[in-house]
Amino acid sequence: MIRIDEKNIEAISAHAEQDYPHECGGMLIGHFDFQNGIKTVVETFALENSREEEARHNRVLILPKDVLRAEKYARERKLDVIGYYHSHPESPAVPSQYDLDHALPVWSYVIASVIEGKVADMDCLPDSLKGRTYFHPQDVGEEAELKRRLEEIRKKRSDKEK
Ligand SMILES: [Zn+2]
Repeated sequence: MIRIDEKNIEAISAHAEQDYPHECGGMLIGHFDFQNGIKTVVETFALENSREEEARHNRVLILPKDVLRAEKYARERKLDVIGYYHSHPESPAVPSQYDLDHALPVWSYVIASVIEGKVADMDCLPDSLKGRTYFHPQDVGEEAELKRRLEEIRKKRSDKEK
C-alpha cells in the first residue's frame, strides 16, 4: 500500500491544476518499507512536460533523464523514487491502457482527475485512494453544472466496474 498525506495530495493537486488543460506529471519520493509492503510519500518532484504541445494532453512521457534527476534528488535526501503521479484533464482518475502498459510493478501511480481546472478525484495504482472526494462543488451557478458532470463521470466509472 501507499501512504500519502494531505500535504502531498495538495502538492499534486496544485501541479495538476496549474498545468490544466495539459497533463502534468511528477515523481513520488519517499520510503519503501519492504518488510511491511508500505510505501510512504515524503515529497513530490514535479517534472516538466516536454511533449509536443498537441500531444501533451494525451499522455505524459517520463524521460530517462528525468528519472535519473529524481533519483539523484531522492538519494541526496536518503529517500527513493517510489512512484509517479500524473493528471487526467477532463477525464476520470482511471488508468488508461497506456498507463497500464507502462506501469512499473515496483512503483505506485497516482492519477488526478482534473475537471474544469479543479482536481475532482484521485486514484492510485495498485492501491486505491478511491472514495475520497477532493472537491465538493456547490449547487450554484457554474459549480452546479460541474457537479452534474462529475456525477456523470463517477457514474460511468462505477458502471465500468460492474
Ligand atoms: Zn494516464
